[in-house]
Amino acid sequence: MSTATKTKTTKPVQAMQMTRSPVLDAVGLPDDDSNLYTQTVSVMLHAAEMLGLPLEVQIILAQPKNEIMVHFPVRMDNGDYRLFKGYRVQHNNAIGPYKGGLRFHPDVHLDDVKSLAFLMTMKCALARLPFGGGKGGVKCDPRALSQGELMRVTRRFCSAISHAVGPDYDIPAPDVGTNAQVMAWFADTYEAQSDHRNSWDAMRVVTGKPVEIGGSLGREKATGQGVVDVCLELLPETGIKIDGMKFSVLGYGNVGSWTARIFAKHGAKLQAVMDHTGAIRNEKGLDTELLAEHVQKHGGVAGFEKATGKGAGATKVSIEEFYKTQVDLLVPAALEQMIKEEQAHWINAKVIAEGANAPTTPAGDRVFNERGIEVIPAILTNSGGVTVSYFEWVQNKSCVSWDAEEVDQALNRHMVMAARRTRAAKNKYSCDMRTAAYIAALENIGKGYAVRGIFP
Ligand code: NAD
Repeated sequence: MSTATKTKTTKPVQAMQMTRSPVLDAVGLPDDDSNLYTQTVSVMLHAAEMLGLPLEVQIILAQPKNEIMVHFPVRMDNGDYRLFKGYRVQHNNAIGPYKGGLRFHPDVHLDDVKSLAFLMTMKCALARLPFGGGKGGVKCDPRALSQGELMRVTRRFCSAISHAVGPDYDIPAPDVGTNAQVMAWFADTYEAQSDHRNSWDAMRVVTGKPVEIGGSLGREKATGQGVVDVCLELLPETGIKIDGMKFSVLGYGNVGSWTARIFAKHGAKLQAVMDHTGAIRNEKGLDTELLAEHVQKHGGVAGFEKATGKGAGATKVSIEEFYKTQVDLLVPAALEQMIKEEQAHWINAKVIAEGANAPTTPAGDRVFNERGIEVIPAILTNSGGVTVSYFEWVQNKSCVSWDAEEVDQALNRHMVMAARRTRAAKNKYSCDMRTAAYIAALENIGKGYAVRGIFP
């Protein structure tokens, strides 16, 4: 018998019931449930009210400090010029410099970038990192660009926003569609253009760099490692044992594939995976390493069912069958807002550990609450990436490099402490885990504003 059938899920103590906060009107946010930014801020305001966060701080946090939008031309391989649109949103820097990834994706829009920047503020505060929140991106399809085009897009984008970022002011990092190579081009361009010219210190402007130019060991797997660290801390109280646990993963990119591979090392069995190319299932357990190699080679999980050797036994399934696969844990690790009401009804899992940012809509969340499915929220679960980014920044600042074991141990300490902070808030305020994580984050930001005051 699997752990899924043996054990009982902890029922969320209080289902999330939110009325529209007057703060949303005060800062001019639309009365539109489908607006991602309004949704994201509403959850924070609900937590802020429970915590008793001063109204002026709620108002400040409800909008980003700066929204930068740029257009820049790039020469394509065929000699034509194309105009690209880029964003950098700086949400809050009350407790440290703005920090957050750069996304290259065709669906990058201002509201999404604002939401992701906002989530970074919350994530850093919950993890007690001395950073605020930011996010940026370029509206483009990196898969359709040659390496040369990708490099020119990155360098021109860096040039367009270089006045607004800096090693102690706003520090980007990789996100969907960007990687260590993109960070290397960004850092190189920034260094060449900045007042810090010829100073290695300018390279601190981004984290997630290749190790050869100051990147940290352990950064690539950090978010997946953090997902597993949080689950090891919190799942035992739901009755789930990691050894033998059945789990499924939505998205098999950086976060999804590392989460799966690390869970597999702890004896968990990957039942099903879905990405933008299709969905596969193997109730005996998918080979996580072989699947990672397949995705690397073919760009997605599709076709793995035809792979020979250890891949044999996997079957192709539909989207609905993927969600309905019976598991102990589901890790959404693809894009935002993929779990709506319908998917939340389909899901046959005891616990959701959000690897992606904002993967669950409020309607999906309500279904999970009604069904007693515990959700470990993204601002806790996926904070491993920014935590190791912080370690990279600290190593660069102090001219040292940590070994992989030091990084892993420090990451584990941060993740466990963030999980315990969330659990303590959940017990103190008798609320669901998402609200608890926001409360624990807001406590930190609230203290920052209390001592700094609001200028003038
Ligand atoms: P990635 O680009 O490496 O992977 C994204 C995955 O999502 C891919 O497997 C892709 O196939 C899948 N996907 C895209 N569209 C899909 C669709 N319509 N249906 C099913 N699958 C789809 O990105 P990543 O770095 O793994 O990031 C994933 C999520 O985690 C994002 O929300 C990102 O913001 C968040 N996140 C990433 C990090 C990090 O360190 N990489 C840190 C924190 C949060």
